Order: sequence, then C-alpha cells, then structure tokens
Amino acid sequence: MTSQFSDLQSIVTNGLCTGCGLCESVIGNDQVEMKLTSASRMRPHEIQPLDDNDMEKIRAICPGIALTGPDKSQVEDAGVMHDVWGPIRTMHRGWSTDEDIRFRSAAGGAMTALGCYLLETGRVDAIVHVRASVDRPMETDAIVSTTPEEVCSGSQSRYGPAAPLVNVNRLLDQGLRMAVLAKPCDVAAIRRLEAVDSRVEQQIPYLITIFCGGVPSVTMVEDIIKYHGVSPEEVSTFRFRGNGWPGFTHVETHDGREFDLTYERAWLSDDVPWKYDNQFRCKICPDAIGELADISCPDSWVMVDGKPIYDEAPGANLFIARTKRGQELVAAAAEDGAIHLDPFTIDELNLQQADHLARRTDNPARLQAMAMEGVPEPDFQNFRSDEMTHLAGTERHEATIRGTRKRIQGADHREPSE
Ligand SMILES: Cc1cc2nc3c(=O)[nH]c(=O)nc-3n(C[C@H](O)[C@H](O)[C@H](O)COP(=O)(O)OP(=O)(O)OC[C@H]3O[C@@H](n4cnc5c(N)ncnc54)[C@H](O)[C@@H]3O)c2cc1C
Ligand code: SF4
Ligand code: SF4
Repeated sequence: MTSQFSDLQSIVTNGLCTGCGLCESVIGNDQVEMKLTSASRMRPHEIQPLDDNDMEKIRAICPGIALTGPDKSQVEDAGVMHDVWGPIRTMHRGWSTDEDIRFRSAAGGAMTALGCYLLETGRVDAIVHVRASVDRPMETDAIVSTTPEEVCSGSQSRYGPAAPLVNVNRLLDQGLRMAVLAKPCDVAAIRRLEAVDSRVEQQIPYLITIFCGGVPSVTMVEDIIKYHGVSPEEVSTFRFRGNGWPGFTHVETHDGREFDLTYERAWLSDDVPWKYDNQFRCKICPDAIGELADISCPDSWVMVDGKPIYDEAPGANLFIARTKRGQELVAAAAEDGAIHLDPFTIDELNLQQADHLARRTDNPARLQAMAMEGVPEPDFQNFRSDEMTHLAGTERHEATIRGTRKRIQGADHREPSE
C-alpha cells in the first residue's frame, strides 16, 4: 500500500527515505533537490510542489516504501536460493590483484577492481558511485566516472549520507551504458526503476553492492572531529577506513595535524562520544546484503576461533554472484587477472557475517511491530519472511517485536523533512 504516501515529506517524516537520490534524478533537480536536513541526513527537498503524476512516478521507484525480493528463477540452472543469504550462483573469497587498489580500498578493492575492469573492457561507458566531497571532506558526493583513475578516487567506504543515484536519469537520456557501485537500497532503487523504464535493462547491465550495516548522519562525523579537538572548517581529509584493511578512521587538518582511530575503537567501542546513529529505514531494512544486485562484495574478515578479528591485514572481500551476468563478470575478471579468487562456503559466511544473519532473521518482527503500532508501513514482498521468523524462534521474534514497538512509541521512526 504505497498510496498512503501522498507526498515526499510523508516518506521522509515516517523514517522511510534511504536517501538514494533517484527521485531527484527522475523528477528533475528544478523540482526536487537532495540536501542535508536539520537532522544531518540526505533527503529530497521539494523546490516546487509536486503534482499527483510526479508522486505516482516516485511511488513507483522509491526503494524506501516498497521492495520486492529476488526471483528464484535466477538460480534455477545454477546455485541456490538460500533462506538467509538469498540467491547465490557462485561465491568466492578474493581481492583486487592491483596492490594499490587493494591497499587503498575499503576491503580487498573488489568493487573498485570490477568498476575499472568494466570500463577497461568497454562493457560500460560510466560508473555511478560516490566519493568524499572535495569541498566538504566530512560529506559525500555522487560522481560519474569514465576512467579507471576516477573509479579509484571513489574507492573506500563512506559511512554517511550520500545520494548516489542523482545522475542516473541524465545518463540514461544520454544513451550511456553504466554500472552502479552502491549500497543495497540504491541497487534496489534501480531494480524498481527497471520495472517502469525499459532502458534500464540494456543501459544498466551491472549492479554491484556491499553488505550494509546502515547509514549514520553527519553528526557522527562531527562528534568524531570534536573528540580530536578539530572544527569542521579545519578538516582537509576525513577517511572512514581504507588505506589498509580495515584501515584507520583518519582525520587531517589544513595545518597538517593528523588523527587516527582503529576500526575497533571507532566502530565497535561503547565508551566513545559518538554514535553510529543509523537512520530508521536501516533498522527495518529487508535487504542489507544486496539480494537484488548482480554481485555483493562484503568484507571477508580474518577469523580466529570462529569470530572475526579486525587487526590490520591485506584486504579481502567476498564475491557473491547472484545473477548470470554477475557470475559471468566475476569469472571474466578472474580469467583476465583483475581479481584473485579462492573457494568459500556458506558455513564460513554464517560465521563471518553473523550480525547480518541476525538482522535478516529479526526483520519480520520489526515490520510486524510497525503494523501493530499503526505507523505507515513499507510494502516489502518476497524476502522469505516466514522462513526468517521460523529461524529467529518464537522467543527472539517476540522480544524483537517488543523492542521495536517501544522504539516506535518513542518516535524513533520520526524524522524532520527539512
Ligand atoms: C554505509 C556502509 C555500511 C557498510 N556496512 C558493512 C557491513 O555491515 N558488513 C560488511 O561486510 N561490509 C560493510 N560495508 C562495506 C565495506 O565497508 C566495503 O565497502 C565493502 O566490503 C566493499 O569493499 P571494497 O574494497 O570492494 O570497496 P571499494 O573498492 O573501496 O569500493 C567501495 C565502493 O562503494 C561505494 N560507496 C562507498 N560508500 C558509499 C555510500 N555511502 N553509498 C553508496 N556507495 C558507497 C564507493 O563509491 C565505491 O565505489 C559497508 C559500507 C558502507 C558504505
Ligand atoms: S528513498 Fe530515494 S527515491 Fe525515495 S524519497 Fe528517498 S531519495 Fe527519494
Ligand atoms: S541498511 Fe538498508 S536501507 Fe540502510 S543504507 Fe543499508 S541498504 Fe540502505
């Protein structure tokens, strides 16, 4: 039931906008502009009032309010439709064979290597992705790369708001073929667009994504630099990770001061004065593992005694090929020497990505809690919710419902639109 979202504000204020930027791209930036709100989140802002026709178009593509999971048929001839992890045709552990890319990137440089390979082999004309803003290094800009050098400039993870899809419709109009390297919800937006725009199948042949722990606001970054005694105007570089694996959270100032935090200190410690303040939509995300992509490239952590450790090491990813196109691309990139691949199993995945396993199995309870509280709900279909509920078990399922209801009663889902 997406018709309950009669205007853009209702998507934002009910905590369902992911910040992808596709509405600006499709409606036009003379009418809708993505910008940071007072809550430091990237949201669409109406420059001119939208009519019913515009809202109909937005409801048809917005990944915040509706998503349909993958089709079993894509793994009928090869691979499995795994209850938790979705379609898997092939799965490997690996990395970019270019040592510079592997070092610089967030993990093993899988996404950057595939982006470069797609341009170098002429499979696409452009890569749609993001990079640290040149003018505002604590923020993140959408970019379109047409050379491998530009693709490399956008490597590394940006744990903050970005609107990667603002250029997509312009590129489609120009007749370009492109690949999108972005979060699962950005990829899901392109799948929704594909259902209503016949150009997408031909012109966006590759969707490559991450496993996603969610997107915090810019406030988190502001709190990190405050901790270092640095003000926003002094910052010349803000790196969340990368330049090593996982790499330090690194701040540089115009006058040459430098500050580093280990991955564990920055992201896994409770006693720090900043918070990974995920947007509400991330807490109810049915697909943070890129089931709708052609390839998912999460970290492939080093394991000790069945648990991931985050000591610095040469970077590694998983390459989870979900579609025939994705499988062919991974195989070709390996054959041509752009990436290195080793075998990997689902048992290993269960251990390496245990937090995502729990997020998947808790998802139906979170959505059920929204229904019980009577707040506007997204329409998420085909994400195997019965299987997830069964795997969670009754006790955990009910505890998650109680917890989510409590958070909704505390207006956790509400967000300002300006
Ligand atoms: C918000 C966020 C949450 C994440 N959570 C997890 C997690 O829970 N588990 C896990 O295994 N991995 C997570 N990752 C992914 C991980 O950090 C690596 O980015 C991923 O494994 C790819 O590694 P790589 O070396 O191939 O990436 P790279 O080769 O460095 O390429 C990364 C690509 O991602 C794009 N990108 C970076 N930030 C964003 C953004 N905010 N929005 C859209 N596109 C972006 C870049 O433009 C680049 O093309 C997360 C990443 C982000 C950005
Ligand atoms: S999720 Fe994307 S398409 Fe939907 S309102 Fe937000 S920015 Fe627009
Ligand atoms: S958790 Fe889901 S909604 Fe949130 S940023 Fe990641 S993919 Fe998008």
